[in-house]
Amino acid sequence: MSEIYPPFEPPRRILMGPGPSNVSSRVYRALARPTIGHLDPAFLEMMNQVSDQLRLLFGTANRLTFAVSGTGSAGMETAFVNALEAGDTAIVGVNGVFGQRMCSVAERCGARVVTVEAPWGEPLDVGELIDTWRAHEDARLLAVVHAETSTGVRQPLEELGAALRESETLFVVDAVTSLGGIPVRVDDWGIDICYSGTQKCLSVPPGLAPITFSERALERSRSRGGSVQSWYLDVGMIASYWGAERSYHHTAPINMLYALHEGLRIVLEEGLETRHERHRSLGERLQSGLTERGLELLVAEPYRLPQLTSVRLPDGVDEGAMRRELLDRYGIEVGGGLGPLAGEIWRVGLMGETCRWENVLSFHAALDELLEDNGT
Ligand SMILES: *Cc1c(COP(=O)(O)O)cnc(C)c1O
Repeated sequence: MSEIYPPFEPPRRILMGPGPSNVSSRVYRALARPTIGHLDPAFLEMMNQVSDQLRLLFGTANRLTFAVSGTGSAGMETAFVNALEAGDTAIVGVNGVFGQRMCSVAERCGARVVTVEAPWGEPLDVGELIDTWRAHEDARLLAVVHAETSTGVRQPLEELGAALRESETLFVVDAVTSLGGIPVRVDDWGIDICYSGTQKCLSVPPGLAPITFSERALERSRSRGGSVQSWYLDVGMIASYWGAERSYHHTAPINMLYALHEGLRIVLEEGLETRHERHRSLGERLQSGLTERGLELLVAEPYRLPQLTSVRLPDGVDEGAMRRELLDRYGIEVGGGLGPLAGEIWRVGLMGETCRWENVLSFHAALDELLEDNGT
């Protein structure tokens, strides 16, 4: 059998796509540490530290701050299934794939979904979101994506949070690609439920979804008429494992939590401000290198994410073939376009560990060679 199935040795890659990003050797060492019981007092103490670390990253004092056992999409489902009951109204901003995904999740909860849309590559109009909310003040939640990874757009949040703060409507924010790359301030911005993922700017392998619930969001889940549609993602039950009771709900992904703990230690050692500044300055260098080469960026400057750049490819270039060459010849992974942008753009990530000057240089150099070979 061992001849049929040799050990899997992944090729060396620079992960400059929309996630996952490169992982530090410190995090790999943490993953390899001995598995202990999920109710072992030593493990429970480490979980408390993970909650504390996440509170610092999210900028919140929320008691219920933890990591969902699943990828970023599980964080999204956790937000929606706990906040929504069948028949509720949900207002969702849609200007890319992840806004669309939020609509599908909300519909599966039986919600009536009201969308506010913007063209892919542009932010949502905050005035339009607020007007839509005023027309549906009974809405249970209003949800937007902070960093739309399908386009590279940053959505401004402060004004929206201020408008919703005194209302009955919960403010839900997808921070999967923003947390650890650009500032996220849950309490200052009045966010009620905010979720993220491990494999973007936190540079931990995919598998967990950090999430935080305000007291009123938690109260909303507790006071609902029926039980939460998902047994696995019911925060009431999960809170009794992450909280003081420590009662068994499901077995925590123990080694993934070691990895997240180490990844968050790295983030906090660097310091959030320094980390944001690293992403800002290197993202800008990546982007200015692209425009200097005559390439067009999809997103207007004020809304451009530093950690995810969408660039239009020159006419006549076979996007898929060139992306494959970038991977095979240079070991660099980038993402293609999604939806209406398929075949039109590349999505170039500079997230967490990947966000290094040498990767910017390598990408620019590889792109020069590829464009020359393709006769552009
Ligand atoms: C990646 C991503 C998700 C989904 O995360 P998975 O880990 O792929 O499940 C959700 N929202 C945004 C903005 C993302 O970038």
